[in-house]
Amino acid sequence: EVPAFNTLAVECVAAPDAALLPRVPGLADELFQHDGTMTKREVRALTVAKLMPMRGALLWDIGTGCGSVAVEWMRAARYARAIGIEPRADRRALAAANALALGVPQLRIVDGTVPEALDGLEAPDAVFIGGGLSEETYATAWSALKPLGRLVANAVTLESQAVLTELYHAHGGELVQLSVSRADTLGPQSTGWRPFRPVVQWSMVK
Ligand code: SAH
Repeated sequence: EVPAFNTLAVECVAAPDAALLPRVPGLADELFQHDGTMTKREVRALTVAKLMPMRGALLWDIGTGCGSVAVEWMRAARYARAIGIEPRADRRALAAANALALGVPQLRIVDGTVPEALDGLEAPDAVFIGGGLSEETYATAWSALKPLGRLVANAVTLESQAVLTELYHAHGGELVQLSVSRADTLGPQSTGWRPFRPVVQWSMVK
């Protein structure tokens, strides 16, 4: 486990005063230190909305990467707590730096791979699966989830999207595809849409 305040090996970029930034999810991507694998702003906002942050609630952020979803969850409600699980040390360091810079240094970051790393963790009010998706990860998380808890899983690869399709057929819930494009320069005088990879999102309330 890396202490959340450990910013070793990560250059700490000065963010605007975290207290002045909105608490409604959907912070600009530039406010996070990331390596490109982060959930982008528009999808992140919808993801956190479906996780429904609440006072004191605990999130398991599985495959936390640079911690963007956990950080926005923690900012959105008073005393909201999160455990981020991430096997890559470089990304755990990014998550710790983001949590510190954005005003939620209490983010707990666990070094591990799911489903094994979920054993013994405090039961969550919400689970986000942003990496490490499998039937076993889903089953372990779902059984640990408290009543009325929310589960949201995002997938970008065809293989993980196929897992979500199977989970949807087996268990119901909501399955959506989110396609975001941002306007960008196209040649010297024109503007065009730059599409991001579509994200398939499966969600359920227990
Ligand atoms: N959740 C991040 C995106 C991270 S990309 C965000 O929303 O910004 C997916 C992450 O899942 C990667 O960092 C990868 O290292 C991690 N991952 C992959 N397999 C995993 C596993 N079995 N257990 C935990 N994390 C895993």
